[in-house]
Amino acid sequence: MQQQDFDFLVIGGGSGGVRASRVAASLGARVAVVEAAQLGGTCVNVGCIPKKLLSHAAHFSQLAEEAKGFGWQLGKPQFDWPTLIANKDREITRLNGVYAKMLAGAGVSVIQGRATLSGPNSVLVNGQTLNARHILIATGGTPSLPDIPGVEHAISSNEAFHLKELPRRVVVVGGGYIAVEFASIFHGLGAETTLLHRSQQLLRGFDADLGLHLAQEMARQGVAIRWSEEIQAIEKQADGLHLQLKSGEQLVVDCVMYATGRVPLTAGLGLEAAGVKTNDKGAIEVDSHFTTRVPSIHAVGDVIDRMALTPVALAEGTVVAHHLFGHGGKSAPDYELVPTAVFSHPQVGTVGLSEEAARQRFGAVQIFQSSFRPLSNRMGGEPENVFLKLIVSKADQRVRGVHMVGEGAGELMQGFAVALQCGATKPQFDATIGIHPTVAEELVTMREPTRE
Ligand code: FAD
Ligand code: NDP
Repeated sequence: MQQQDFDFLVIGGGSGGVRASRVAASLGARVAVVEAAQLGGTCVNVGCIPKKLLSHAAHFSQLAEEAKGFGWQLGKPQFDWPTLIANKDREITRLNGVYAKMLAGAGVSVIQGRATLSGPNSVLVNGQTLNARHILIATGGTPSLPDIPGVEHAISSNEAFHLKELPRRVVVVGGGYIAVEFASIFHGLGAETTLLHRSQQLLRGFDADLGLHLAQEMARQGVAIRWSEEIQAIEKQADGLHLQLKSGEQLVVDCVMYATGRVPLTAGLGLEAAGVKTNDKGAIEVDSHFTTRVPSIHAVGDVIDRMALTPVALAEGTVVAHHLFGHGGKSAPDYELVPTAVFSHPQVGTVGLSEEAARQRFGAVQIFQSSFRPLSNRMGGEPENVFLKLIVSKADQRVRGVHMVGEGAGELMQGFAVALQCGATKPQFDATIGIHPTVAEELVTMREPTRE
């Protein structure tokens, strides 16, 4: 048998790859990670972390407004984009270093370069062939932009993190996670922001009431939402980008950002030569242990496109490492109970089934919902309402979904995810004492169903 350089060779030093390599190394495997760009991948460099920092920054304009009602006189707030970006970059560089240290401490070799599969047990990096007993593909995803004339003048979220200045007028295209998060960021930081979406529903796939409520709140704050609209062509002129819309209208802006989904990053990986299969969306096909059709090649994270979230990639990476180098025992996450938050303003937090999915699965369901203006918004002149919704399957009284739009939804949903993971019932929610005065107490005090 051929001499192996490593037990486990991981392609991609992002969320899934780093987790899998650290766990594998802790289980005694000789591990290397090949990374083409910066350690930490999308999440650390152009995803969750810098996005959350920008989102936090954007919220201060609203807080400054609200503060007036509580007696504060702060003057006219001034915002400086270069300061935000420089401080954000410093924090990201620090995190890159943390990742490098963490991997070195775990005994994982880091190889800087772009990897290509050259066989079931071999990878080509920087002109050198490395052999490994097992290979993990954790190459993530990349933004997908429609092919329209002038699209080269548009940016994706990748570039948004490195803009030299805050655009004065910006159009964000899409209605998913990234679109609503960035529309809120640009708007909160002071840009004249338009959210342009091809349909009439934000956050498709979530409980439909969440998208409805979020759209109302974003529009109320001043984000211009253009429904059932698409850009047909972009032309760069001296006064800005001229957008030709499907409706026949023209818009002139300084920046167009597409947030129209992401696709698995497999180009140039040599999948075909190695015999690894992808599905019609370009995602790598894997079994329940994240193994591809080639027994020595595995894949996790955005590249398998099950649920493109960091904690999911981490969980999948843990499973694969234990399966290959431990004693098994860890199974794929329960994707249905993965909680998630959208860091728009206001935030969206959700766990479990949407009303539509619950009706399809259980037939008889009870819906408890409430929308009200929380105490903290009463004196600030901020008319923002929160929205809360519980979905209960009638026959067994199990809580099947918890949904919220409102500040703090992300923090709040983590605890409710534990409850749903434990199979909590509506009577158990009812028996739980609330914390007063909070928004969250409403979730344990809604007694009468809004509808069945
Ligand atoms: P990645 O983290 O993308 O890592 C893949 C790595 O592989 C990259 O570093 C890449 O350079 C490297 N690579 C690719 N090809 C090669 C090759 N051939 N050779 C060597 N290296 C290669 N998720 C959340 O849970 N919460 C959030 O708030 C959140 N916000 C997001 C905001 C944005 C704007 C975006 C784009 C994503 C966000 N996500 C969020 C999703 C999250 O970032 C991803 O789900 C997660 O990073 C996926 O991890 P991964 O390991 O699959 O891939
Ligand atoms: P999403 O899949 O969430 O949303 C894509 C949006 O683009 C949808 O509204 C879709 O419309 C629209 N769209 C798709 N194709 C076109 C097109 N050709 N023309 C016009 N509109 C189009 O993808 P994102 O890019 O927002 O984010 C990618 C993934 O990254 C997310 O799904 C999520 O898993 C992850 N992420 C997680 C975050 C978090 O946890 N907070 C934050 C950011 C990203 P339609 O609804 O009609 O299909």
